[in-house]
Amino acid sequence: MIPNQKGTSIHKVTRSATDRYLSAMTIIAPAGRGLTFGDPATVDGGLSALARGLKGSEILRIAADVRALLAEGRPVCNLTVGDFDPKQFPVPHGLRTGIQRALDAGETNYPPSDGLPSLRTAVVEYIAREHGVRYPLDGVMITSGGRPAIYAAFRCILSPGDTVLYSVPSWNNDYYAMMVGAREAPVPARREAGFMPTVDDLAPYLGSATLLSLCSPNNPTGTLLSPEVLRGIMEAVVDENARRQAVGGRPLYVLYDLMYGALVYDGAAHAHPLAVAPEAAPWVVTLDGISKAFAATGLRVGWATGAPAVISRMRDLLGHVGAWAPRPEQVATAALLRDVEGITAYRAEMHRGLEARLDALYAGFMRLRSEGYPVDCVRPQGAMYLSLQLDLVGRSVGGVPIENNEGLRKLMLERAGLAVVPFQAFGLKADTGWSRLSAGAVSVRDIEECFPKVREVLDTVSGEQ
Ligand code: PLP
Repeated sequence: MIPNQKGTSIHKVTRSATDRYLSAMTIIAPAGRGLTFGDPATVDGGLSALARGLKGSEILRIAADVRALLAEGRPVCNLTVGDFDPKQFPVPHGLRTGIQRALDAGETNYPPSDGLPSLRTAVVEYIAREHGVRYPLDGVMITSGGRPAIYAAFRCILSPGDTVLYSVPSWNNDYYAMMVGAREAPVPARREAGFMPTVDDLAPYLGSATLLSLCSPNNPTGTLLSPEVLRGIMEAVVDENARRQAVGGRPLYVLYDLMYGALVYDGAAHAHPLAVAPEAAPWVVTLDGISKAFAATGLRVGWATGAPAVISRMRDLLGHVGAWAPRPEQVATAALLRDVEGITAYRAEMHRGLEARLDALYAGFMRLRSEGYPVDCVRPQGAMYLSLQLDLVGRSVGGVPIENNEGLRKLMLERAGLAVVPFQAFGLKADTGWSRLSAGAVSVRDIEECFPKVREVLDTVSGEQ
């Protein structure tokens, strides 16, 4: 039915006539007045210092290079994206149907700004089962994935000029620090420690920091903070806060990112910071969500936990941003988190899939190492990542001098179709040839097929190591 000019309706118009009319209108007279916005650089110059200081994502820049090669029909083993191919790693069936049911049931209004009580309760139980730590309900808030939880924690804990301490390589601490005007104290973590920080690495900087940002299992390294190392770090935080309390100083907070907490392999020991140091409860904010645990990066459900006094400030902040998770997703996630058997079965399958891919990467690169190629990698313990070193900076490959990690990345992409993300995208400055490989969007076959090409390229290396 199409309204005519008098506001009544024309009933007897055939569909084909209607279609012809609409497409003719589109070609001859596009609706609305076209706009011009002036010189983009001039417009940009009028924006805030924060807006103009923002850096685009390195990972997305690299992803664009990969897409360009794929568009040319070139084969690429794409190990760049921290996401899942839904054909290989679908979301839990019950989550999908639960969202559809919630939509059909009219769950389409604003949720409470800290999340649906049913989901917050399910999160309390989930954390208690997974980590042996029980939060009060008002110590839990729901967010639109993990990112708003991180942003709110940085925003609510750090005033401009305060210092955030974190190890590198690590994910996006530099971006969040920039957004809140914090001073950064990035501490390089060592290969021998699986690129995770130790208490000795952090101790010299604890006294001047307001926030210590930790993540385990870690993006980009695929390694863990062992419960012993974590306990050492948390005890140092508690001691530091006892000192500050004595002189009336502001405390040192900890942001602990558990986004990959469900992806721990081979029975590796892994702990919640308040399971090893419950006395640190006033100062620890954790975050988690369904993005990685349930391959649901696009559904946008995350949560933050902490002292109710901190969480209520974060809730107020994000309420103004509107960064709550969509209501149907909240309803379905509450049911998902209560389904203990379903989670166990889903997780077993997901672990099998990710471990098979990470094992194939690790075994393939270690074989090259055993054959004398300048390759190293760290055995993955969790998440979906593997740390790989191609020790080629300063040497030539096929006659091309490799000056830095970016040159190495481009060359491996061009010549071997191997797409990786250098540790520079995770805040590490040194051009040591280390990169992140992500296993969520490739098959074991894709991985196995890349090794002959990598070997061919490595056969053309010349120059002293
Ligand atoms: N924390 C880490 C370590 C991540 O790697 C990511 C995403 O890649 C996030 C948090 C954010 O997760 P989300 O996609 O739910 O915002």
